Amino acid sequence: MEEPGIGTSMLVPTLLECGTEALKQRFIPETLTGDIRWAQGYSEPNAGSDLASLRTRAELRNGQWHINGQKIWSTLAQHAHYMFLLARTEPDAPSKYEGISYLLVDLRQPGVRIRPLKQMTGSAEFCEVFFDDATTPADWLVGGRGEGWRVSKATLNHERSMIGGAESSVELFEKLLSLARKSNFEGVPALAHPIMRERLSVLAGEVQAHLYSSYRQLSMTAHGQNPGSITLMNKLVNTNISHKVAAIAQDLVGDAFLLAPPTGSTRGAGPEKWNLRFFASLGLTIGGGTSNIQRNIIAERGLGLPREKNV
Ligand SMILES: Cc1cc2nc3c(=O)[nH]c(=O)nc-3n(C[C@H](O)[C@H](O)[C@H](O)COP(=O)(O)OP(=O)(O)OC[C@H]3O[C@@H](n4cnc5c(N)ncnc54)[C@H](O)[C@@H]3O)c2cc1C
Repeated sequence: MEEPGIGTSMLVPTLLECGTEALKQRFIPETLTGDIRWAQGYSEPNAGSDLASLRTRAELRNGQWHINGQKIWSTLAQHAHYMFLLARTEPDAPSKYEGISYLLVDLRQPGVRIRPLKQMTGSAEFCEVFFDDATTPADWLVGGRGEGWRVSKATLNHERSMIGGAESSVELFEKLLSLARKSNFEGVPALAHPIMRERLSVLAGEVQAHLYSSYRQLSMTAHGQNPGSITLMNKLVNTNISHKVAAIAQDLVGDAFLLAPPTGSTRGAGPEKWNLRFFASLGLTIGGGTSNIQRNIIAERGLGLPREKNV
């Protein structure tokens, strides 16, 4: 059985919320067993933070969607069987948000070309995906026609919960502590150095606050209450912690950090690969919506501040 990937954490909950019974039956079981793997097709060369500007088009002809356009930064698309993607299906819709649909597409067809992008780490974890009259059945549509923006936000909520999970902060901080226990900093044991002790204690406080906040969100949800704006903060808090952990590790590892060039996959990089973890922590502040965008969302949707003007 293959490792299930983003299908289980992002697509399955979206299908449960917004999919037809036929799509649930068709895709959920095999996604959960890991027999089919998914890639996410949101970003395009000119549509990242401003996702609704996407230009990939899908036209319905003879019972099939015909898809033309390009996606970029699709994580591990070279190993995926299917993609959940956003395409413009209603070019005449009154606003750019209303003309988008959420489609499921088989990537193993002649109209699809997948080109992995080589990273500075030497591996290729992202791809460009080109659609040249690729097709997909008319009913492989999640939500209604032109309702893709609403569905995409459901998937993004699941993606941000996945990235923002407090348990990963706790685990990473424990790994940092084990590194600190066996490291020296400025010639003394790191845990005896006042600056390092202070940095670790401040971070320990942030990790605990994130953990207890996640318990609170869980118990409120379990009691049918809305945790409110607190859920909007998970991704930003978790990726900030992840980045601070990696920065402290960089100081603890010292020169060896530079001597071991970052090669290989950043995924699952543990204490033996702190340099990769550092680079991965930068990527996490971007994937699933950048930290700046998370701040905008917290300000506008969470705190009710005025929307920023036409950026
Ligand atoms: C690890 C990783 C995995 C990814 N996986 C996928 C994937 O599987 N599928 C997929 O579709 N995409 C994926 N992406 C792409 C990701 O969603 C985009 O990189 C992200 O949304 C930002 O878009 P962009 O790169 O075009 O940057 P831009 O949108 O051009 O942003 C550039 C900078 O401007 C800032 N900025 C932009 N708009 C505003 C604003 N309104 N207010 C304040 N600041 C702003 C941003 O914060 C950023 O610092 C992945 C990215 C990473 C790093």
